[in-house]
Amino acid sequence: MKWQGRKRSSNVEDRRGRSSSSGGGLSPLMGGLIMRFLFSRTGLVVAGVFILIMWVTETNPLTILQQFTGGGMGNAAVSEYQGSPEEEALAEFSAVVLQDTEDVWNQLLENYREPVLVLFTDNVQSACGLASSASGPFYCPGDEKLYIDLGFYQELKDRFNAPGDFAQAYVIAHEVGHHVQKLMGITDRVHSMRGKISEKEYNQLSVRLELQADFLSGVWAHHAQRTKQILDEGDIEEALRAASAIGDDRIQEQVQGRVVPDSFTHGTSEQRMRWFKKGFTTGDLSQGDTFNAEVL
Ligand SMILES: [Zn+2]
Repeated sequence: MKWQGRKRSSNVEDRRGRSSSSGGGLSPLMGGLIMRFLFSRTGLVVAGVFILIMWVTETNPLTILQQFTGGGMGNAAVSEYQGSPEEEALAEFSAVVLQDTEDVWNQLLENYREPVLVLFTDNVQSACGLASSASGPFYCPGDEKLYIDLGFYQELKDRFNAPGDFAQAYVIAHEVGHHVQKLMGITDRVHSMRGKISEKEYNQLSVRLELQADFLSGVWAHHAQRTKQILDEGDIEEALRAASAIGDDRIQEQVQGRVVPDSFTHGTSEQRMRWFKKGFTTGDLSQGDTFNAEVL
């Protein structure tokens, strides 16, 4: 996929390195080092000099120190997360793909509300509850945000045997597909059926919801290609491999504790690929009614 140097979406919330269980403040190690320094001979001398400066200039030496360190002491707690160059490239890539989805869906839907993409590591708090990286990327209808731990892309390659940047783009486009379903009222309609129909019937509706998200990601790929020629040779195959490799039990709703793996009827690999392909070849939203389709 051609993505380098292209426009990035600003709807990215970078929560990497901010595990929801960890608080701010100085690390114990830093605190220990500072205490040891204060009680060392050099520390006493420095403290003496500080007091002298304060006495002579009638100013707070901390403000002088701040001018040297380029900020307040509090900055120690607000460290910006910096991943490896590869990880930063993935973060940039994700923002470019998100921008592409915004461009397409703003064109296809009236009053499209752009979702926010949250990047996280380890675990994250969402309106759908606390989720760990292990649940995979997901969309939370409650706060209209997509959540992804960039480490998932490595897993996509190693564990699901679905490498390639367009496989990664497909994952984002699929989650954005769930957002489109939310905006169209489809998600709420499906969720409202819960408890009113049998578990088995409800699972079948969930499968249709999943397959429609695949279709919508295909529709996105169609229009992104038509307007920007973003695809490289073999990109669609990469997306299809990802669609076939990732079970819907992994990618969605684990976070809400709704998936019971044993009883969950998965959309088959073949079905997932077919709906993505249908979206990609037609680019036509009206072709994606998985709920009334006789053959999935
Ligand atoms: Zn899904």
